[in-house]
Amino acid sequence: MDCIFCKIVKGEIPSKKVTENDKFLAFYDINPIAPVHVLIIPKEHFEKFDSTPDEIFPQMAEFIKEVAKTLNLSDYRLITNNGKNAGQEVFHLHVHMVANPDGKLKWPKLV
Ligand code: 5GP
Ligand code: ZN
Repeated sequence: MDCIFCKIVKGEIPSKKVTENDKFLAFYDINPIAPVHVLIIPKEHFEKFDSTPDEIFPQMAEFIKEVAKTLNLSDYRLITNNGKNAGQEVFHLHVHMVANPDGKLKWPKLV
């Protein structure tokens, strides 16, 4: 069965798209934690960071930079939760891109 992000890739669940190419997709988080909160995913399903083949990441890094350009962001934070206790809720690899174009992001304590 497809996971929720695979369904977003297939268009079976609607999403607000930022940009995409043949391998990656960027769309707005449904529950934003900052003025800009975008999720960046490979279209192929990988459960999490540590089970994703290394060769995906250079391509993903390039795509992430394109997303930042598309959003006209110079300053942003990237977050990947790897595993349940790290806060991962959707088990399809994703990078959160968060930004506050009008000011500074906080760096909160997490425990
Ligand atoms: P995680 O906690 O796994 O690192 O992040 C999962 C993220 O996916 C959360 O920030 C959550 O708000 C977002 N999310 C969950 N379901 C949906 C959905 O159906 N659509 C969108 N756009 N975001 C979702
Ligand atoms: Zn998936």
